[in-house]
Amino acid sequence: KLFNELQDLKGNIRVYCRVRPLLSGQAEKRTTIEHIGENGELVVGNPSKQGKDGNRLFRFNKVYGPNATQGEVFSDTQPLIRCVLDGYNVCIFAYGQTGSGKTYTMTGPNGATEEEWGVNYRALNDLFNISQNRSSSFMYEVGVQIIQYSQTFVSLDLHTLGIKTVSQENGLAVPDASMYPVRSTSDVIELMNIGLNNRAVSATALNERSSRSHSVVSIHVRGKDLHTGTTSQGNLHLVDLAGSERVDRSEVTGDRLREAQHINKSLSALGDVIFALAQKSSHVPYRNSKLTQLLQTSLGGQAKTLMFVQLNPDVSSYSETVSTLKFAERVS
Ligand code: ADP
Ligand code: MG
Repeated sequence: KLFNELQDLKGNIRVYCRVRPLLSGQAEKRTTIEHIGENGELVVGNPSKQGKDGNRLFRFNKVYGPNATQGEVFSDTQPLIRCVLDGYNVCIFAYGQTGSGKTYTMTGPNGATEEEWGVNYRALNDLFNISQNRSSSFMYEVGVQIIQYSQTFVSLDLHTLGIKTVSQENGLAVPDASMYPVRSTSDVIELMNIGLNNRAVSATALNERSSRSHSVVSIHVRGKDLHTGTTSQGNLHLVDLAGSERVDRSEVTGDRLREAQHINKSLSALGDVIFALAQKSSHVPYRNSKLTQLLQTSLGGQAKTLMFVQLNPDVSSYSETVSTLKFAERVS
């Protein structure tokens, strides 16, 4: 309900931009961010142009500057989490080049304190807290799937998964990915840590190919009204997308180039889907990538989508910043 109040003309799609701080080694470097407005304005300056000539204005539903805390960011995300318990499907993405703060926003820094927790942990905490405090005539069951996806889907236990037809009923596109029942946030944290370790293991096993993969944590919430027997099913997908940087053909070859091209293709397919939804187009090209097939039931229709567009403010990232903003402009 709160979400509906916040909703703008674009209906169920919202885009938030977050600019991470310059890191300590970058402190004396220049930023490309000229201005962040209260109402979602972002002005980016072209470092190779003098004065205001190179400035460009972008608009989002919200823009968070380098000093925004994890708590502030989450407070604008929270209404979406509540929708999941009401039976809606929700997708939250982080998009941006490697190093722009996607994982920081979604998960938090390594060894995060509670204050530094990202959207994932806060969302889960909320889900468990609300579900436990709602009227005793309601029962919720929560299951989690964790999937890594670059060219194939890999589940938490490192099994390669085939994508199956999406079941409209429960929104599970990859039904053979293990579903882990969970009762608390710490259960999920444990699973996510196993996932992270496995990701490292598989990266090494694959000769350090890359850590460029999409990481999807899917939380399935089944509610049952114990009086009437009515059930509801809401799904929350938390997606830390692979880095959006373009690949330099002179630097990568073979498998790596193919992987990079595959990832870039899946990101642009995601952009096309969100663009089509924002335009309320009658044809939404879900089938152009496995990523969009995986998320199909949680993109469009009644589903609610939030994209974090992550920026590295350093001048050396200017061209990637511009391409990230162009992607975002299309969908917001
Ligand atoms: P990505 O996942 O996009 O590759 P990371 O989330 O790993 O980027 O962020 C890169 C680095 O910047 C990490 O050291 C991270 O802790 C730091 N960082 C990112 N966003 C913030 C932020 N908002 N505040 C402080 N440090 C941040
Ligand atoms: Mg990351």
